[in-house]
Formats: sequence, structure tokens, C-alpha cells
Amino acid sequence: MDYKAIEHEQLLAAGEKLPIIIFINIFIGAITIMMMWSDVPYRYLLSWIALLISSLLLRLALYLTYKRSTVETTPVWNRYFIITSFFSGIVWGMVGLLIEFYVAEAHQGFEVFILGAMAVGSIVTATYIRWNYLAFMIPMLLFPSIYYFLQIDVYHHFMGVMILFFMVVLSISSINFRNIQAERVISFKKLSNSEQRLKEITSSMGEGILVIDKNGILEFMNAEAEHILGWNFDEIKNTDLHDLIHLHAHGADNSCIVKKAYLHGEKNHSEDDHFKRKNGEIFPISLTAAPINDDHKTSGAVIIFRDITERKEIEKQLSDLALTDRLTGLYNRGSFDETLSYELERAQRYNRSLSLLMLDLDYFKKINDTYGHQAGDDVLKKIANVIKQSIRGSDYPARFGGEEFIIILPETENSKAVELAQRIRKTLENEPIAISENETIHVTTSIGVVTSRQGITTQTLLYLVDKALYKAKRNGRNQVSL
Ligand code: GH3
Ligand code: MG
Ligand code: MG
Repeated sequence: MDYKAIEHEQLLAAGEKLPIIIFINIFIGAITIMMMWSDVPYRYLLSWIALLISSLLLRLALYLTYKRSTVETTPVWNRYFIITSFFSGIVWGMVGLLIEFYVAEAHQGFEVFILGAMAVGSIVTATYIRWNYLAFMIPMLLFPSIYYFLQIDVYHHFMGVMILFFMVVLSISSINFRNIQAERVISFKKLSNSEQRLKEITSSMGEGILVIDKNGILEFMNAEAEHILGWNFDEIKNTDLHDLIHLHAHGADNSCIVKKAYLHGEKNHSEDDHFKRKNGEIFPISLTAAPINDDHKTSGAVIIFRDITERKEIEKQLSDLALTDRLTGLYNRGSFDETLSYELERAQRYNRSLSLLMLDLDYFKKINDTYGHQAGDDVLKKIANVIKQSIRGSDYPARFGGEEFIIILPETENSKAVELAQRIRKTLENEPIAISENETIHVTTSIGVVTSRQGITTQTLLYLVDKALYKAKRNGRNQVSL
């Protein structure tokens, strides 16, 4: 990561700690003043208090303004912090001298307490910025140590050496501390950076990507997933995937491949699953769920999915296409054959009757010859519509051949079948069919009717209905025959 950016993060962290520093200064400052009150001459004491207040005001000013810093201006702001610390270091160093000069020897132990507490305490708060801690600690401890070395007795020299040693130890600690703090900033940045990168990388992917933890809680969602689901990640992060998006109920359902991924570490793919959008719509998806493994343990799962609504629609259209006749939209010959066997078998098993109507348009060649093949096709379409509108939902109308239609009527006895055949015949007879803008014609049809009896085969049934139709033609057309 960019070194400058880390420095800036460190600067902001240092700024956040300023109130603590100010509080410690006031607290220890108050103790110090009480201690020096009776011994130190007032003019020195008051001057020192004025210096302490100035240093606190400097820090307060810094606290109120440090947020204006940017990555670019970080070095300048770092200097402000260091200067402020240096000033404060001098102020506290003076305390050491005042105590040495004026305070009764019995109370001089306080000096160690005050300077030691300030030196150790501010390691935590002042080390974010390089040199900042040293700028405070060194002047603070240097004043008394120089004073000690200027004395003639061994006891004071020993104190001076101890303070120098203390300074070295603190300097080393402050460097280590700063490294720890920097690492924390870096790893935090890395984490949010890697999330950012993941977002960028996955943003242009055509698939939706979801990351969940080992409890099924959403941790990440790419742009496509947001787009498909209609949810913004911020709206649903930290919620359970199975509450809002995946339809499987909690608990019992062991077939859920997402659960298999985060509970059992299995990778699976499905072309037949469903998600729910924000607007409540449930839609088909293809789905891959793979476990995320950390240290050989499953810590969550990645889900890659695609909205396959369109594909499913096309598949349905294709399968419809395979079953139906293109021109009329009725079932085609192939699906008719299958359905007839199935329905006849059922009818025989439950001992019900099944009827068949076979229709053949009368003199259809003439229409083609007079108005053209295209007009003939249009007529076929319209007749198919009349047939569709005349029958029940359970009936099965098909185009049997060129201009021949056939209708399976399950659970229909002969008289009812004849009734229906007559109705269709009459409707067609009376229904004018527009052939061009100002010309209509009437088409008639001959219809053969047959009803199954026990033991009859489909072949026989078809043979019989064809025969009935032939009879209707021979008897003069536009009629129903058994
Ligand atoms: P009838 O049935 O009354 O004996 O006389 P017809 O003229 O209808 O004779 P037939 O049933 O044998 O006629 C079949 C004719 O239907 C042949 C062909 O011109 C026409 N035909 C068959 N399939 C199509 C088609 O898909 N489109 C069009 N326009 N005409 C078709
Ligand atoms: Mg025919
Ligand atoms: Mg015909």
C-alpha cells in the first residue's frame, strides 16, 4: 500500500488521541501544581502554569484542525504535531528543574513519578507520528539529566545515567510501538482494499456473485448481483441469505446446495434453482456454490449465479414448438399420436369412453386455386381458431395433415361428440372468412366421429374415424358421420 496514505492514516489516528493527551496533561498538571504550591516561588509557578496552558491550547488548536489534513499535506501536519510535542516536552522538563531547585528533598520522589508517568503514558498516544514521541520525551528528560550531571556528587550522576538509560529504552519502545500501530493500519487498509478490489474485479462480470460466511450471512455482493436481485448490498449485508434471497426454508432442507457448501464444504452446480428479488418476484437461476476454506476449515461460501428467466422461456417455447404445428398453433401429428395412445390407455383402464373427431375441409383445393396458397393458409389458421374456441380445455385438437384436423375428446360419449361435431360444422358453415379486404368466403367441413369401446386399438380407432369421414364426404360433404 501507498506509504503516504499510511502516514496520513497514522496522522488521523494521532489526532484522535489528542483529547486523551490533553486530559492527562490537565490531570498530572493539577497534581504537580498542588505539589509545588508551597515551595516554588509564585512567579515561576505562574509562568510555568501559563506555559502549560499555552501548550494545551496548541494541542487543542491542533485537535480542532487536524482533520483538514490530506495525504499530500501530511508532512506539514506531522511537523505541527512534532513542534507541539516538543514545546510540551520543554514545559514538562521545566517541572523537573523546578522540583530539583525548590521542592524539599522529601518530596523529590514525585519528580520521578510525574516525569515517568508522562514519558510512559504518552508512548500509547504520541507514537503514531515519526519523531513525535521523541520530540516530547527527549527535552522533558534531558533538562533534569543535564542538571544531574552538573552536580558534583555520585548520587546525582547515577540519577543522570539512569535517566539516559530510561530515554534509550523509551526510544526503542516507541519505535516498536509505532511499527505495531502502522501494521494495524496497513492490515485494516488491506482488508477494506481487498474488498474494494474484489468489488472492482467482479463489477464487470456477467454473473452475480455472493459471498456468505459459515452461518449463511451475506458478506459480499457484486454489482451484477445487486442488479439482478434489486437489493443494494448495504441494505442486506449481515442478513441471512435464506431469509431474503434463497427460497429454501431454514433447517430441514438438506438439498440446498448453498448449505452443502458452507456446512459441508461441498461444491455443487444447479440449473434448476430459484432466487427472490427485492420486489418479491421469484425467478429461475443457474447456481454454483463453492466452499471457502481457511486453514482446512470451511469459513463460508461463494455463490455464482445467473438469471435464466429468458433461457427458461426460450426452452419452453422450443418445447412448445416441438409439440405444435407452426401454421395453426394446434398440436402436431407427433404429439397427437402420443396423446391418443396415452388417453386411450387411460380411458380403457378406467372404463370411460373417448371420442375422436376428424375434420377435412370441403373442396379446399379450389380455395388454393382461386385465391392462392397464402389465402389458403390464412383460412387454415382461422379454422384452427374456430376449433380452439369450440372445445373444452381437456380436449386435444391437432392438425392431422394438410387441411385435416383431429380432436381427441377424453371422457366423451358418442352423442356428446356428435353434438360438438355438429356445432363446429355449423359454426364454420356460418362464419364468413375474410379472404381479402372486401371479400369473404364460407368454408364447409366434413366430420367423422368415432367413440372407443373396450379393447380397441389406436390404429382401429383411426381407421374407423377415417372411414366415417369418407362416408360424410361421399354423402355430399358439410355433414357429420359416424
Ligand atoms: P375434398 O376434401 O372435399 O374431397 O376436396 P379437397 O379439395 O379438400 O381435397 P383434399 O382434401 O384431398 O385436398 C387437399 C388439398 O389441401 C391439397 C392442397 O392444395 C391443400 N392443402 C393441403 N395442405 C395445405 C396447406 O398447408 N396450405 C394450403 N394453402 N393448402 C393445403
Ligand atoms: Mg384432405
Ligand atoms: Mg378436403
